[in-house]
Amino acid sequence: MKNSVAIVVPFLNEEENLPELYRRLTAVFEKRSETAAFLFVDDGSTDGSVHALEKLRQNDPRIRILQLSRNFGHQIAITAGMDYADADAVVIIDADLQDPPETIADLLDKWHDGFEVVYAVRKSREGETWIKRFLAASFYRIFHQMAKVNVPMDAGDFRLVDRKVVDALKNVRELHRFMRGLTCWVGFRQCAVEYDRAARHAGETKYPVWKSLRLAADAITSFSALPLRLMTVMGALIALCGFIQGMWVIVGRIINPDSYVSGWATVVALILFMAGVQLLCLGLVGQYISRIFDETKRRPLYFLR
Ligand code: UDP
Ligand code: MG
Repeated sequence: MKNSVAIVVPFLNEEENLPELYRRLTAVFEKRSETAAFLFVDDGSTDGSVHALEKLRQNDPRIRILQLSRNFGHQIAITAGMDYADADAVVIIDADLQDPPETIADLLDKWHDGFEVVYAVRKSREGETWIKRFLAASFYRIFHQMAKVNVPMDAGDFRLVDRKVVDALKNVRELHRFMRGLTCWVGFRQCAVEYDRAARHAGETKYPVWKSLRLAADAITSFSALPLRLMTVMGALIALCGFIQGMWVIVGRIINPDSYVSGWATVVALILFMAGVQLLCLGLVGQYISRIFDETKRRPLYFLR
């Protein structure tokens, strides 16, 4: 069956954007034959977002509002939306109109062609700082090399997923979730649609750089153990260098017993450098361990109000 579509909109304090988003979404579905449901997931908003939606809902029973008990984060909000959507396909879209709702028509067409995951790839990104664009571009390229899943570069969470994929994802309950990685990891028939990423309609980004970095760390630790393996390689290389240097000193001493070895500065520099490398590696291990700790607690991903 390919009749009904649920539009899942995770949002945090998007009061000024939601009415405009709703207007553009409904305009898209006026021209389509599929029936739509609009599932707004409130990720602990503290502004008038929910009130604005309740007003819209009075005239449109297709609107559903899911309220999380607090701010659980974008990825968890997406998960909650997918858990509660009961349509034949789910489209995930940001509330800030950076993902143009009109692109949904292209996603739906590909879905009717038989694809089960249709992700939207950014041809261009507007209105974002160069540091964020640089970080995003580097992240996608590094992740692509590290993870064994083939996550498309420059695709965000804006995508259509078929019922089968939603059901598959419902079985994945890890806490530190990188949804765009997971939707690729589950497999199925996937394809891309290109779009131009607009600037935010109103308000400010809810993803400051530190949050983006945390998401990147979650993505890498949940899909790749390469950092851990690199530590072994680095340790082996440094040990080898130390061994060669040690032999050099000993042999030099035998050949010329009263050679005076100075090098206080070198020794201090090396000790500091090695202490830094060791702490860095320990921190990396810690990144994995803290996530293991979180996962073993098996807490529910979210609570609904
Ligand atoms: N968002 C959310 N919970 C959060 C942070 C963000 O639900 O903790 C929502 C936000 O309202 C928006 C989407 O996730 O609908 C993407 O966030 P944003 O536009 O701020 O990120 P950016 O596009 O700047 O990366
Ligand atoms: Mg945005």
